[in-house]
This record gives sequence, C-alpha cells and structure tokens, in this order.
Amino acid sequence: MGNEKVDVVILGGGNAGIAVTGPVRRAGMSVAMIESHDLGGTCPNRGCTPKKVLVAAGHALHEIERAAVHQISVGQPKLDWAALIDREKHVIKDIPANLARSMARRDVEVIKGHAIFAAPNAVRVGDRRLEARHIVIATGSKPRPLPIDGAEHMITSDEMLTERSLPRSVIFVGGGVISLEFGHVYARAGADVAILEGLPQLLPVMDADAVARIQIESERIGIRVKTDVRVERIEPANGRLRVVFFYKGVQHTAEADRVINGAGRVANVDRLELAAGNVEHAHGRVAIDRHLRSTSNPQVYVCGDAVPISPQLSPIATYEGDIVGRNIVEGPTYTPDYDSMATSVYTVPALAAVGLTEAAANEKGLGIKVHCNDMRDWFSAQTYAETVAWSKIIVHQATDRILGAHFVGHAGQELVNIFGLAMRFGITAGQIKDYVYAYPTFSSDIKHML
Ligand SMILES: Cc1cc2nc3c(=O)[nH]c(=O)nc-3n(C[C@H](O)[C@H](O)[C@H](O)COP(=O)(O)OP(=O)(O)OC[C@H]3O[C@@H](n4cnc5c(N)ncnc54)[C@H](O)[C@@H]3O)c2cc1C
Repeated sequence: MGNEKVDVVILGGGNAGIAVTGPVRRAGMSVAMIESHDLGGTCPNRGCTPKKVLVAAGHALHEIERAAVHQISVGQPKLDWAALIDREKHVIKDIPANLARSMARRDVEVIKGHAIFAAPNAVRVGDRRLEARHIVIATGSKPRPLPIDGAEHMITSDEMLTERSLPRSVIFVGGGVISLEFGHVYARAGADVAILEGLPQLLPVMDADAVARIQIESERIGIRVKTDVRVERIEPANGRLRVVFFYKGVQHTAEADRVINGAGRVANVDRLELAAGNVEHAHGRVAIDRHLRSTSNPQVYVCGDAVPISPQLSPIATYEGDIVGRNIVEGPTYTPDYDSMATSVYTVPALAAVGLTEAAANEKGLGIKVHCNDMRDWFSAQTYAETVAWSKIIVHQATDRILGAHFVGHAGQELVNIFGLAMRFGITAGQIKDYVYAYPTFSSDIKHML
C-alpha cells in the first residue's frame, strides 16, 4: 500500500467538499478529494436540481388548472412521466464532468472510491493511504433508517427521481420536505397520494400556521394527510404494498404501489471508521465545536449535511465548506451563523421561511409584533389567480428588526430572500417599508405585509 502526503484530504465531493477547496487552494495547500459516486454529490445529481425539474412540471400543471380563471380553455393535460424523467436526467447529465474539469483547473486531485479513516491523520481509499495535516468529513446524509418491520420495501427520493413510470398510488411515511415536494408533483400528475406523519404536525420545524396553509392546499389537490400516526409494518399484498398503522389508538391499513421513506435524512458518517481517526461520535453524530472541528481530533473538520446540528440544505453545505476551508487556512477562527438562512419547501405553491417561527420567538420571550395576512384578495394574488397567498412577518418590537418571515404562495420563495437579507444586514421593518418597489410586483406587496 502506497503512503502519500497531502495538506488536506476531503471525504466527499458534494457542495460542502467542493466549497472547502476554494480557500485551501488559494492558500497554496495541496488537496485530494475522495468521492465514491458522482462529483457534485446530492444537490445537483439526486437532490435540488433534478427535483426542481419535476416541481417545474407540477407548476405547469397548476397553471393549466388555473387557466380557466384567465378565460383560457384547455383540454385535460397529459403528462408523459417517462419523458419528464428523461428531461430531468438530460438537464443534469453534464454536471459531474463539468465539476471534474473545475476541480482539475483548481489543481485538486479527485480520487474515486470509498474513504475510511486509517489513523487520526490518515485515510485509506482502495490501496492508497493518504496522510494529511487536515481531514474534512463532507460525506453528506442518507435517508433516516426507520425501525419498522418491512422497512426494506420502502424506496427513497433516489428511486423517485429515476423510475420512468408514474406509480398509480404512493404512501409517504413521514411528512417532511421530500414528502411534501414529491407528493405535490405526484398528485398533480394524477397519482393517489397519502402522507402519514408521526408527529402532530407536518414539517415539524416550520411555523404551525404556514404548515396549516400548505396542508389545506395539499388536501385541495387530493393528498390525504394523517398526522399523529404510528406506522407498524409494511408488507407485500396483492402485488402492491400494505402499510399497517395506528391512528387514534385504532389499527388501520392502506395499500399503494409504492411506499416512500419521507422521514428526513441523517448524517452519513457511520461507515467511516471514525474510531480509527480518533473522531468522537455518538449515534451517528460527530461531536464538533463552534468552528465545525472535531472535539477529539483537531485535525478533523465536518461540513454540510454530515454536520448534525445545522439544516440540511445545499447553500448551508457550501457556506459551511467555505468556513471550514478558511478555518484550515487561518486556524479555528470562523463560526457559522444560521439565523438569516432562508429555505423553501418546493410544493406548488411553495412554503418559504427565514428566521424564527412565532412559537420559537415567543419561547425566547422576545417582545414581538406579528403581521399576518391572507392575501388572496389582493390585486397581485387575484391577477395570478393564486389558490393560496399568505404571509407572516415577525418583528422585534424593541429594535424593529425582522426576526422571521413565512410565506405560502405569493412568490414567497423569492420574497423570503429580501427578508433574509434584511435580517443579515440589520435592515429594519421600517426601512423595508420605506423602499420604493417596482409595481406591480409581488415584492411591492411587502409594504402592506408589514
Ligand atoms: C431529494 C432531495 C432534494 C433536495 N432539495 C433541496 C433543495 O431544493 N434545496 C436545498 O437547499 N437542499 C436540498 N436538498 C439537500 C441538499 O441536496 C444537501 O443539503 C446538499 O447536497 C448537501 O451537500 P453535502 O456536500 O453536505 O453532501 P452531498 O452532496 O451528499 O455530498 C456528499 C458526497 O460524499 C460522498 N461520500 C459519502 N461517503 C463517502 C466516503 N466514505 N468516501 C468518499 N465519498 C463519500 C457521496 O457520494 C456524496 O457525493 C435536497 C436533498 C434531497 C435528497
């Protein structure tokens, strides 16, 4: 086995790993990146980008549904699912090769294979052993394993983005982001969709009022939602799958062509031989300090979905990767700040949010003013025949700062960034109102939302 020396070894070539390479290469450090599948990782190959191609089709179907309001007659739309999957694959096909060229230009050596720790300062991939001054764990996440009998019958988002036939019926176990997003596309494409969530609320970390709005819209398009459910087992039945679950203490069954694990994702760190690297961890979570550095091995950093405490989102993976890169170059200096990170659930229409929920702001005992609006009868919502148009803006009374903003519909996935920007740079609610917006736009409604 060859023993090689390099300044930085990065495990994983997704958003987080790639972002590390910028600062460390600019500082002239030698870098090896080990990737077991496709360069680019989840977001461009199996996540955000291909999913958004399907969501865009869902959006088109939504617009067709609303055509009559604009006095347009259209026939029954027919979606060719196989062709849509082909289009999705076509959109993303060049990504790994483009990133390989970009890494080569940056003089990063990309090694194909599964990496494991060989020592606190070394990793092994195939028959190579790389000794490094710094090792970065950027190995992403994987679907949360569910302790349910028959869990092996479930598929994940990977299969949903690949199967060329639209299932007639699906049951999502877990009411997280992936279930809502794919559920909306499937339902609009004509599939029978049910979501079974264990907690009292879908999307448990999002603002309860916003979730109530998107649940109503989900049910309007035919999705059946049950919360407070305990799924007992999944078993084959008549060429389909049967889900046995308890709801309000009573056993129920439901059958579908596909059952999907929609219970979120967990850090993908359990096959890294962390003990060999002296990397402290428990229950699949690496222990890290505020600089994203291992608490037991100062040569090791973690970033992206592999971080157990931050939202699993692509821009956050990139942000953390950059912080790790700078901490490697300058010593542990930078700490991530997640307060103003915007996020969206790409249902059609989307649920978008930044900052605190109303419940979280109240729990913190902050004196808040809550501006909540159902905007369906506002001109912009009427113009675009919106089925749901809702906002909640939370303002800190003492400072007039924005603490949180939540939207369903009304271009919320775009507007949320204005509020994130305001939070990040201390722009007050009064200043946001003071701006003269182009009219008529959804943004021009911000004045009235406040
Ligand atoms: C269906 C889906 C839709 C999503 N949609 C959105 C969205 O709309 N917006 C958003 O912000 N986020 C979205 N996400 C989340 C987003 O994709 C992730 O937050 C982001 O990709 C995380 O980047 P990462 O670099 O941490 O991990 P990844 O991109 O997963 O990269 C980790 C890489 O490490 C590799 N690897 C793992 N173990 C090893 C090993 N031992 N050796 C070598 N290589 C290894 C993997 O092959 C992988 O390529 C979505 C995720 C999914 C699954």
